Amino acid sequence: MISITFLLFLIIGTSNAQFQNVALQGRATQSTNDGWLSTGQNAIDGNTDSEYLHGSCFSTTFALSPWWRLDLLKSYKISHITITKRNCCAHFIDGAEILIGDSLANNGNNNPRCAVSSTGGAETYQCNGMKGRYVNVGLPGRWGYLTFCEVQVFVSQEESETIKTKNNAVQVIVSASANANSQSTAQQQRSVPNRRRGQRSPNH
Ligand code: CA
Repeated sequence: MISITFLLFLIIGTSNAQFQNVALQGRATQSTNDGWLSTGQNAIDGNTDSEYLHGSCFSTTFALSPWWRLDLLKSYKISHITITKRNCCAHFIDGAEILIGDSLANNGNNNPRCAVSSTGGAETYQCNGMKGRYVNVGLPGRWGYLTFCEVQVFVSQEESETIKTKNNAVQVIVSASANANSQSTAQQQRSVPNRRRGQRSPNH
């Protein structure tokens, strides 16, 4: 008899197989850093261990309006985001806002909102294709610690392939342009001695 847990694993595993976690390729930063154990990059290291002392979580200091920002390096249509909270204190980020957008105004904290975090250990928020390069999580207007252990940002496989194809096309154009410039420069350099020789020619 197949257990309910195994069925849930199959359902979640199958659904997430259609998506790619693009957070792993990103760069994380944060409003304040609580020490070497708590760097923002720990929240995108691919490890959902929720014990802070194991070194895979992130935390700000106790501060007003703390925030964490992920730069995906490219703008994606984001399907959903999963946040794994700390085992001791998931409630620290109750009410945290999850924002997505392409603007760095106010450190990205003015971008449109996908969802607000509620109580729970690991939560998934549907963003329904909201587009953006930056994902922010923050507690605007509140004093507190912003702390969690992993943020997974899922895009569809189709979206991932589209962005890769666009990126490759840009690289080909840039490479072709660089080659053309290089050849042009080489031609100009070759033409300089010719002109100098021309100046010494009997015709001038
Ligand atoms: Ca982690």
